[in-house]
Amino acid sequence: MNYHLSRYHRQVTMDGWGSEAQERLSSSRAFIAGVGGLGCPVAMNLVLAGVGHLRICDADTVDITNLNRQFLHGETDIGALKTSSARSSLLSVNSNVEIKAFPEKITAENVDSLVGDADIILDCLDNFTARHAIGQCAVRKGIPLVHGAVWGMEGRIAVFHPPEAPCLQCVFPEAPEPVETPVLGAVTSAVGSMQAIEAVHFLAGEPVALKGRMLIMDFSAMSFQELELSPDPECTVCS
Ligand SMILES: [Zn+2]
Repeated sequence: MNYHLSRYHRQVTMDGWGSEAQERLSSSRAFIAGVGGLGCPVAMNLVLAGVGHLRICDADTVDITNLNRQFLHGETDIGALKTSSARSSLLSVNSNVEIKAFPEKITAENVDSLVGDADIILDCLDNFTARHAIGQCAVRKGIPLVHGAVWGMEGRIAVFHPPEAPCLQCVFPEAPEPVETPVLGAVTSAVGSMQAIEAVHFLAGEPVALKGRMLIMDFSAMSFQELELSPDPECTVCS
């Protein structure tokens, strides 16, 4: 068995998978907005699965308060760009993937060039100004946006992809002020891993499960509920 098949053997042998799905992953491109609490598990799981081309974007540097959850950054990375420590950690796990790092703040002006030719966008952000920019970019490019958010022991995920499913702005038309929330690393890891599952499904050529639905998780009670989401016919972005 060659290196490529050996490395991914345990997922290629899953039902309905095979080497063709793996090839699709290898040639696919993902944009990860933020390599913090959610971006670390998202990026790591995409790299483990063999998604071939990642564009990671984050303007922040590593702070000691990040280290309870952001496992791509270590103690010696404090003060360094998160994109640098994340890229280095990811390549140490899988040197066969391409990782382009963009240490930039996402704005309405630069978002289209940052996302580039990505097939999917992963929303691992903590503020709605940048979220709205990537949400609008996803609509313009016609690609899905996998949204994730965490506060305390709670989290949520959804996949926005008009026209069958709403866009991000249909569901979150307003941009609330960013607030610092307490958060446990195991919760961001769980929610980020679920975002990665949806992205891997889509990039491998399978339908995503959460199109038009939002999963809301209360990890303190291990209680999950879901909301049906519909496109807003008055939406200024996708209608
Ligand atoms: Zn919309």
